[in-house]
Amino acid sequence: MTLRVFDSHCHLQDEDFAMDREDVWSRAHQEGVGMIVPGYTMASSWAAVAFAKAHDDTWALVGIHPHDSKERRPPDLNQLRRWVEDEPDVVGLGEIGLDYHYHHSPSAVQRQVFEEQLALAGDLGVPVSVHTREAEEDTWEIMTRVGHRRGVIHCFTGTLAFAEKVLEYGWHISFSGAVTFKNARDLRQVVERVPLGRILVETDSPYLSPVPWRGQRNEPLRVIRVAEVVAAQKNCSTKEVFEVTMSNTNALFFPSVVDG
Ligand SMILES: [Zn+2]
Repeated sequence: MTLRVFDSHCHLQDEDFAMDREDVWSRAHQEGVGMIVPGYTMASSWAAVAFAKAHDDTWALVGIHPHDSKERRPPDLNQLRRWVEDEPDVVGLGEIGLDYHYHHSPSAVQRQVFEEQLALAGDLGVPVSVHTREAEEDTWEIMTRVGHRRGVIHCFTGTLAFAEKVLEYGWHISFSGAVTFKNARDLRQVVERVPLGRILVETDSPYLSPVPWRGQRNEPLRVIRVAEVVAAQKNCSTKEVFEVTMSNTNALFFPSVVDG
């Protein structure tokens, strides 16, 4: 299959897809959508690896989400390392980060688990997919202290100032269906201002379905809708957004492909 566009962040291993996972994957794959499936717990990370192994043009990230960081056990870090080293379909760590909106785990624990996973990624030389919500300051502090310069802020909903800092640091920014929401005028302005050459697109399935499907279960095929809205903000064709975001995804997650 010749890929046309990448859904750089979709949780196809989620139980929301238990009834029709293969159909959902096929619908996207038939349209040339490549997929990167991040974990959020150890179990869902392993499920992401197994799913990627069983499907073409589909890769996995492994990692512990900030919500679940209080469940982190001492051997987990070693297991994450082993997956990255041993499994060819694992292309990085994610999703990791900080979430001070829900506070499902205490913030000190979130910071520790984020920092150790980020340092592991640096050590292994692989990129990270980072979730940050109401925690930009601490995210930035940990990013810059650890000093790993290969990552993406997934489902970006932050300010233009934060976007610019992150890009200057060498990271990418990924936009989701949130850019289609009626009240997301500020976010669409961020899309307009940041260079297309540093943007990725994603669905974050099963969450964040773009308009007109807002509130329904999301699926990777709808990354096309996200790309259309990015194209409208950028005054370019959807095809150009497909091509550029795909080459950005390759540069971040598959540098050996880009290098030849
Ligand atoms: Zn996610």
